[in-house]
Parts: sequence; structure tokens; C-alpha cells
Amino acid sequence: MALSGAREDSRLPHACLISAPAREAALHEARRLAAAAVCSGTGEKPCGRCRDCRKVEAGVHPDVITVSRLTDDKGKQKTAISVDQIRALSADAVVLPNEAARKVYILDEAETMNPAAQNAALKLLEEPPAGAVFLLCTSNPLLLLPTVRSRCAHLSVGGGEQDAADEGVKALAAGYLKAVAAGDEAQLLRWCSQNEGVDAKTLAAFAQEVRLRLADMLCLRQKAKKLTRADMVRLCALMDRLTQYLKVNTGVKQLFGLLAVESIAGSGNRG
Ligand SMILES: [Zn+2]
Repeated sequence: MALSGAREDSRLPHACLISAPAREAALHEARRLAAAAVCSGTGEKPCGRCRDCRKVEAGVHPDVITVSRLTDDKGKQKTAISVDQIRALSADAVVLPNEAARKVYILDEAETMNPAAQNAALKLLEEPPAGAVFLLCTSNPLLLLPTVRSRCAHLSVGGGEQDAADEGVKALAAGYLKAVAAGDEAQLLRWCSQNEGVDAKTLAAFAQEVRLRLADMLCLRQKAKKLTRADMVRLCALMDRLTQYLKVNTGVKQLFGLLAVESIAGSGNRG
């Protein structure tokens, strides 16, 4: 679902919906984003070395809170995340962070929130407390209310091991975002013609890398250059389309054509 219009621009909460076929893959990405959000190191975040990063890694950071289904008296995991859990989270989210600049809430298996819990979560996403970041992990985003989904930036991650993108893919994504952020169509076209010889696998990795970078910007208020939130949400949707087209074997050159006309708002002949 795409967010549209400038109205949401300032109100878009710092919420990410991280979907992955495997629960662990979504959690892994959520922890990476959480570490980036609280990292106190300098340079690229998460640095992986500072006290905050190490605490997140060890699962003991007081400002990174994971909400999962509870277990009952017999040690059996309950079927749903309850509304009481979300209410407790809401109450906690208005309290200032303990150590970091913000608080991060990871919702493990967010799709297991029952309807009451989802409505409580929706209220929270509609009026998010300042400085709180919500990371909803799910293997099935369609089980979440559309209104909940539409409040989140979407990020999908692969099922298996998270291979770090190679330098070539990173450079490709960086060059693309630079041209798009500058709103420079000529620069974008040059980028397209220089790179349209890459193979489909590289283009798929490129789309994923761009999504990761956009998610970092959207969720964590990292420097976004000249991109507005509406731009970023639009670009996320464009990367999703690109990935879908690749799955049905659309030619790489055609897809670069798509990138050339649809990346910069207001350019090309968009309907
Ligand atoms: Zn760090």
C-alpha cells in the first residue's frame, strides 16, 4: 500500500514494517535497525563497537524493547500478542529513554496481535510519542490491518542468510540515490546508461540495497539529503515494483527505463 500526498509527510511515524519469510531474518534486520537507532559511535551506524551496539547485540539495551507473545502458566506460548501488552508498550513509550536518544520497540511476529491489540497499535502509530521508533516484524504482512500497514515504511528482507551487498551494488545504490535526491534527470539518465548492462541478479540486489538505505532514512531520521518522506515512501514502492518485475523476467533494460522515468517526482509521463 502506498502512502500518498504531503499530508502524511510530517505525520508519518517512525515505524517500519519488516517482512521476511523467516521470523529470524526479520528480527535480525530489526536488531540492526535498532542498533543503528541507539548507536553512539561515530561514522556509519550501527558501528557494532560502541556500548549501545554491544548492548543491543547482547539483548540487554534498556531502550530497545522487544514485545513477543507471552507464555501461559504451563510454559506454552500464547497464540496472540494481547491488547494489554500493547497498552503497556504505549505507556512505556511516553517515558524518556534511559540511555539512548530514543526508544526502539521491536514487535516480534506482529501479525499475531489480535484485533484489539492492532487497534491499540494503530492509535500509537497515529500519534507516536516523540523519539520512539517502532519496528514491526512479520512473516505475513497481510494479517495486519491495512491502516496499520499504511502507517509504516515497508521493508522486505530475504529468507536466508543476510548477505551484505558487495561494493559494486552499494556504489550502484549510492549513485542512484544521489541523482534522485538531486532531482537531476540528466544525472539520472547518465547513471542509467552507464549501468544498464548489469545482470538481473545485480539489479535485484540493487533494489534491496536501496530499500535498506531508505528504511534507515525513514525509520531513523538519518540524513536524507533532499529527499522528503513522501519521496522515500514512493521510492520504496518503486523498488518493490522493480523486484516484482524481475520475478517475471522483465528485461533489465526495460527496468532501467522504468527507473529513468519514475524515480524523480514530476518527471516523465506519470499518470
Ligand atoms: Zn555503535
